[in-house]
Amino acid sequence: MSPGTRIGLLGGTLDPIHLGHVDTALAARTALGLARVIVLPSRVPPHRPQQPSASPYHRFAMTALAVNGVEGLEASDIELSAPGPSYTADTLARFQQSSGLSPSQIFFITGADAFAEIETWHRYPEVLDLSHFVVVSRPGFPAATVRHRLPLLAPRMTDSADAPFPSIVLVNRPTRDVSSTEIRRRRRAGEPLTGLVAASVEQHIVQHGLYVDDTAPTSISTPSRRADHLHGQD
Ligand code: ATP
Ligand code: MG
Repeated sequence: MSPGTRIGLLGGTLDPIHLGHVDTALAARTALGLARVIVLPSRVPPHRPQQPSASPYHRFAMTALAVNGVEGLEASDIELSAPGPSYTADTLARFQQSSGLSPSQIFFITGADAFAEIETWHRYPEVLDLSHFVVVSRPGFPAATVRHRLPLLAPRMTDSADAPFPSIVLVNRPTRDVSSTEIRRRRRAGEPLTGLVAASVEQHIVQHGLYVDDTAPTSISTPSRRADHLHGQD
């Protein structure tokens, strides 16, 4: 890979992956000129309280279906195949080693709701030195709100695609107003998922009866809850 190559990583429980995730990956790819964005479903070990509803195998299968045929997107099992909970700091260290890229070539992408909780992440603040971070607006959470939420980090925040390393790039592009929480709610209510997930993902969900008996606690008002747990201290 040439020294100028830039790669994005988009992590999350992805329970399930939806069109808002695809929009987020593509928004970051376009804004930053990323060669590709690798989408990583995260591992949540069985002993942890906030369990995803779908198994890691199903979450990976749906991720692969969702990126199928979408130029510039790729699915990876690097978090699922590593032991323990998926901490972004560990993932970034591993990815750097396996790819041979330098930290300044790697862009870790989050929605603004998830980034607002960065202070609770494992190995904060060092995690912010392991790659660039990209914060994409989410409906109801403009990227710029993190400047006020995280004043200590504001000096690193920029709208520029070519900021010095390590930076936090704010990307204000529209993404669809979808959450996995809302998708799970719809499934329990027997409502269709049309327009919220890729057709192939909806087919997979229906074919395998996913999310119909979803008893995991969910809340639309706290859409980042599962991601927080994922990245928080063990
Ligand atoms: P849940 O409702 O279970 O929390 P979610 O829709 O928030 O699910 P996650 O797997 O928690 O999905 O999110 C993974 C990452 O994608 C997070 O960084 C989150 O902020 C981001 N994200 C999800 N949906 C959007 C969206 N519509 N726009 C921008 N970012 C998004
Ligand atoms: Mg979330």
